[in-house]
Amino acid sequence: MERLLLAWFEEHGRDLPWRRTRDPYAILVSEVMLQQTQVERVVPRYLAWLERWPSVESLAAASAAEVIREWQGLGYNRRALSLHRSAHRVAAEGWPEDLTQLPGVGPYTATAIRCFAFDENVLPVDVNIERVLRRTGGSFSAASAQALMDLGATICIARIPRCDSCPLAEVCPSRGIRDEPARRQGPFEGSFRQRRATALRQIAAASLPLDELDGEVVRSLVRDGLVEVAGELVRLPGEISRAFG
Ligand code: SF4
Repeated sequence: MERLLLAWFEEHGRDLPWRRTRDPYAILVSEVMLQQTQVERVVPRYLAWLERWPSVESLAAASAAEVIREWQGLGYNRRALSLHRSAHRVAAEGWPEDLTQLPGVGPYTATAIRCFAFDENVLPVDVNIERVLRRTGGSFSAASAQALMDLGATICIARIPRCDSCPLAEVCPSRGIRDEPARRQGPFEGSFRQRRATALRQIAAASLPLDELDGEVVRSLVRDGLVEVAGELVRLPGEISRAFG
């Protein structure tokens, strides 16, 4: 089964920029961005990020405000701060043995870095890979990680798998079987998450008076360390207040 998969990947694998590097910092950036943002949206932002901060040291030397501003539009802004804190830690102490000690790095991201950067034989199982493993019942080595991801993202997709185009169709016990529809995430429009994103974007453009902002949103952004209140103004962390209006 693995051989069939790898032969398919050879021809149909996606050419993604983080697949051309073994730099653990670049892999970390890509993995953190990909945690909750779609591949197509991540590609240009990943390239811009690495152009601006090509090394862990350069990111560590940036201010939190710059990092939050660069992150705008990717969503789930806490990831930017976690990445920044991770860069501080790695620049000061090197890569920890246990990568989950880095802020924002859970077991999946840690395994992905070990696999893609450090070439360890561990298979990072994201939601796409988990689905392919479950449906095929196959066992795959770490060498198939990217191929499994692509199969899960493009062919063995969540609701209605495209078994007719699948390289594993001949040997897959789940061929032609659909999954039950998954519960969808609530709409972004009008949500608290959207109000937070809007407020942070405004504050990233210029510090704003506290009384012009939604207090509940500001409290939640302060709690996450994404903004701070200085007197009557809300601003990005550590930033000298810029003119507003
Ligand atoms: S045959 Fe269908 S269910 Fe099986 S791996 Fe391929 S796409 Fe998924």
